Amino acid sequence: MDSLLDIHTHHDSDPLFTSIRSYHAGDLVAMIAGQHSSSLTDESLYAFLNSCYSVGFHPMFTSGIPSQGDYDIFCSIISDSGCLAIGECGFDKRSALNFSEQQKVVIRQIEIGEMYGKPIVWHIVGGWNEILKLHKNIVPKTPWIVHGYRKGRELADQLLSRGIYLSFGEHYNIEALRLAYQFGLMLSETDESFLSIREILFRQSRDLEVPLEKLIGDIRKSLSYLI
Ligand SMILES: [Zn+2]
Repeated sequence: MDSLLDIHTHHDSDPLFTSIRSYHAGDLVAMIAGQHSSSLTDESLYAFLNSCYSVGFHPMFTSGIPSQGDYDIFCSIISDSGCLAIGECGFDKRSALNFSEQQKVVIRQIEIGEMYGKPIVWHIVGGWNEILKLHKNIVPKTPWIVHGYRKGRELADQLLSRGIYLSFGEHYNIEALRLAYQFGLMLSETDESFLSIREILFRQSRDLEVPLEKLIGDIRKSLSYLI
């Protein structure tokens, strides 16, 4: 996938660069469950299958523990070749789920990721100790990517030392960005930004003092190990 550069977005793909469009699993599961019961042939249901995407139970949009039936549909989506990763998955202190409920949903998604060999894209608002603890205990075979990393160098060092990728968007800490680049574990994303991935990469290349073309080449190299 030579043109892939944007690891996480909620926008339509840049026509020149492939991006991984992120979907909340609850929305897709509900659509698919609805389609099966009403024989609805809605083009929008399968529009996502034509692109590269990630799908996960987002802690902010998941209001109850998913049922076994939900996970069965989720696994059928995950097994699609267009699904490149599980995510957003993670912890958020504003979630309607309490911490131990979030933990259950997270662990189930990690297990599914390991089963299907799909990387995990993490959404973390609070819960930094938990992700480090989980990574130490599970030692996953599939790569983990913390998306939208804005924290500082010290936490970045702990995550990078475990081989966890950090993805940077429009806003970031320059020291953490530099460290991730040195580790060869830096990725780039648009997320909900209205800046293009090219503009974000341009700003990051300037902050790294690395030519844009070299940065693009380096990120593509990282991605080729990942996906
Ligand atoms: Zn996002």
